[in-house]
Amino acid sequence: ANRKFHPADTVIDFGGGVKIGGGAFQVIAGPCSVEGDNLIKIARRCKSAGATMLRGGAYKPRTSPYAYQGMGERGLDLLLEAKAETGMPIVTEVMDVRDVELFVDRGIDVMQIGARNAQNFNLLKEVGKTSTPVLLKRGIAGTIDELLMAAEYIMSEGNDNVMLCERGIRTFETRTRNTFDLNAVPALHYLTHLPVVADPSHATGYTRYVEPMALAACAAGADALEIEVHDNPAEAWSDGAQALTPDQFDRTMERIRAIRSVV
Ligand code: PEP
Ligand code: MN
Repeated sequence: ANRKFHPADTVIDFGGGVKIGGGAFQVIAGPCSVEGDNLIKIARRCKSAGATMLRGGAYKPRTSPYAYQGMGERGLDLLLEAKAETGMPIVTEVMDVRDVELFVDRGIDVMQIGARNAQNFNLLKEVGKTSTPVLLKRGIAGTIDELLMAAEYIMSEGNDNVMLCERGIRTFETRTRNTFDLNAVPALHYLTHLPVVADPSHATGYTRYVEPMALAACAAGADALEIEVHDNPAEAWSDGAQALTPDQFDRTMERIRAIRSVV
């Protein structure tokens, strides 16, 4: 992952002109969890707002075992149906080494490794044995070097298609869900050739802070943004407090385009 040994930026190509890295910028949007038929409705609105990739969790890493755990394989079906209709590549979290083969067989475009699994070394090695692009999130209290070493676990198995994601870290501050470490964006660009994604939704935890921090992440040089969008945040099965409505997302995308064009 070290830029010293590989000066040129890594560019990940999802086909259809959708690329991340090396100057190419995309917005990944969608609900925290896949919940059912509202996914397609949300996907259409995300696309018309200008998002080019669709996110949604089918396997959810929840703090409480009694909270909604995700739809599992049915969630992957719904994501793939939404992809078939909209053409948007799919980003979804894989939590378990036993599911990696399923994600590859189903043709998931990007396997997300969540913050809670950022040092699950067996899972990192398993996705490293595939050629599916990986969106690797920074651990909840992970350092930049730990994030880079997690990327090495994937790359050392042969998969170089890794994107790093700053999603906020745990600090003493409690007014926001996490502390968005925007320093990580230029620091990662200096240290590594891998694309850097920023997630202002999990980083802030509140809808009202998502737009300003999305804009800040663009200004800091992020190669992509991942933003949670829900058609009815008050009723969302997870992370409703940080979701943008489709109308809010329209406005945020307009303001993002003033800083950074989606190319
Ligand atoms: C998510 O993207 O919905 C998620 C669980 O993110 P994180 O792993 O960053 O908390
Ligand atoms: Mn979420």
